[in-house]
Order: sequence, then structure tokens, then C-alpha cells
Amino acid sequence: MKELDYFFPKTLEEALQIKNELKGSIRVIAGGTDLVVRLKQDQVNEDMLLDVSRLEELKGIEDKGDMIYIGAGTTHTEILENPLIKDKAPILYDAVKSIGSPQIRNIGTIGGNVANASPAGDSIPALFVLLAKLHLKSVDGVRSVPIEDFFLGPGKTAIKDNEIIIGIELDKMQEKDIGFFRKVGQRKGTAISVVNAAVRLTKDSVPNKFSKAFVALGAVAPTVVRAKIVENAILSETLDSLDKIMYISRLVYREVSPITDVRGSLEYRRDVSINIVYEGLADLFLNGFRR
Ligand SMILES: Cc1cc2nc3c(=O)[nH]c(=O)nc-3n(C[C@H](O)[C@H](O)[C@H](O)COP(=O)(O)OP(=O)(O)OC[C@H]3O[C@@H](n4cnc5c(N)ncnc54)[C@H](O)[C@@H]3O)c2cc1C
Repeated sequence: MKELDYFFPKTLEEALQIKNELKGSIRVIAGGTDLVVRLKQDQVNEDMLLDVSRLEELKGIEDKGDMIYIGAGTTHTEILENPLIKDKAPILYDAVKSIGSPQIRNIGTIGGNVANASPAGDSIPALFVLLAKLHLKSVDGVRSVPIEDFFLGPGKTAIKDNEIIIGIELDKMQEKDIGFFRKVGQRKGTAISVVNAAVRLTKDSVPNKFSKAFVALGAVAPTVVRAKIVENAILSETLDSLDKIMYISRLVYREVSPITDVRGSLEYRRDVSINIVYEGLADLFLNGFRR
């Protein structure tokens, strides 16, 4: 592993000044669970690290009425321990619960999971269906980017050279909202997803009908994708039988473009992405679409 200069700012303002001065030659490090692995494999170009792990301004979870705000430096464990997330963003709760091991969740952050821009990042499909917005800050101010516009490819994001992610704002789920996060990995425990999926539906007054549908899949394309054909089918159909749910789930096939890699073949990933949506929707149906 190469030698690196390490910056330990005490405030966000100081961190932003350093980032602004050194721009693309310095890399942010939060929990380091992703970055240290890549540093050890000599996959990081920068020679300087900007440690944001102790910045209080990046920590914590706030109730913002219809929205929830999560500081980028909040760890996965802190998210799981917060009753607001369990109650009002259960899809994110289940996604975060599936990440790594307790040790990884104790130090890994949600900002790191998003900024890492892995197509298999587990918080990302959940944040897609909760219509999350990323708050990016530089010395010039804050801008808010919808999560769908944030990912440009594997490991590539819309963060500018002088910006840091400071937080994530997401929809609170309301009484009529139901949904799920599901993941298939190679084995139980710390497995990275072969395919993951998040679904959020808003119930209509007519039984088995929905007024809003959001479906997102991970590890099936260069970035997490919204499955809009599936969403439209859910909105136009009545989900009143397992056959109907299977018909809708099969449409996933038209939305994914997976690759073959060490974790699974293209064909396997395509089949799993259909099954994962089917099983999640079927469970909701068999439970009478109750939360
Ligand atoms: C054994 C193991 C198991 C794992 N299992 C899973 C899993 O099941 N699911 C999963 O999704 N991930 C998994 N991961 C990956 C990783 O733990 C998570 O992605 C974690 O959330 C990363 O957060 P971090 O704070 O450690 O990020 P870091 O490693 O510190 O940083 C990751 C990237 O994000 C950037 N970054 C971090 N914070 C910011 C910020 N505030 N602003 C701008 N850029 C920032 C860094 O520059 C770097 O490029 C696993 C990793 C390991 C080692």
C-alpha cells in the first residue's frame, strides 16, 4: 500500500476548504470499509485522504415532517438503531440491515455506500424508491441532486471535485405505503448482492390497486435502475392473483442488462431479478397488502 498524506479536519468548513484547495488529488474517507480494501489493492489514484469520520455536522437523523434527513456520516448501525427509520422508512431499514457484518455496519456509513457507486450497493435501491435527494456541499454552497441523477456508471458519480456529500433526504413512508427490500447474495452473512431490489407502492382506495409504484433493482446494470415498465404495469393492473403478479414480475426481464462476473452469470442474474420482485410482491399480496 502506498504512503498517503492524511488530513483530519475538525469542522465541515475546514474539510470543505481543504477539498476546494486540493480538489481531485484528495479522496474523502469516512468509515474506510470500501476505501481501505481498494487502497490495499492499489486501486486509488489520490495520494491524500480527507477523513470526515469525526465531523459532527455529517452525523445524525432528523425528522423533517414528510421527509427524513440522514447525515452522510451516519453509520449503518446508527440508522438501524433509530426508531424513525424502522417505522417510517422500513425499506431502507431492511436494506441497511443486510449490509455486511455488525463490524462493517458499525463503521461503514450511508454516505460511503452511496458515494462508492457500486451497482450492488444495498442502500441504493431503497433510496431510489424513497425518492432520495443527496445534499452536496462545497465552499460555494449546497446543491441537492435526485439520487437517480447521481450515478453516471460503476464508481462514477455527479460529485464535483470540491464537493462532499453532507446528507440524504428521503420520503417518509405514509400509512398507505407498503414495500420491501430483498437481496440475493452468494451466501448468508457478509455477501455482496448478486441482485437486490426495492419496491414501494401506495395503496389506492380500490382493493389491490395502487396509485404510486416505485421499483428499483441493483447489480443488474452499470448503475441501479428504476424498472418503469414494471411500475406502469403495477399501476394499470389489479394485483389480485399470483398469476398477475408473475406476469408483472416477468416484465423485469425487459429492464435489466446484467453482466456475467464472479458472483453470477448474466442468465442467473436475469432470472433472480424476476424472482426477487415476484417473491416480494407475492408476500405483500398474501399478506393482504398490509404493512
Ligand atoms: C467485508 C465487507 C462486506 C461488505 N458488505 C456490503 C454489503 O453487504 N452491502 C453493501 O452495500 N456494501 C457492503 N460493503 C461495502 C461497504 O462496507 C459499504 O459500501 C459502506 O457503506 C461504505 O461506507 P464507508 O463509510 O466505509 O465508506 P469509505 O470506504 O470511507 O468510502 C467509500 C467511497 O465513498 C467516498 N465517500 C465516503 N463518504 C463520502 C462523503 N461524505 N462525501 C463524498 N464521498 C464520500 C470515498 O471517497 C470512497 O470513494 C462491504 C464491505 C466489506 C469490506
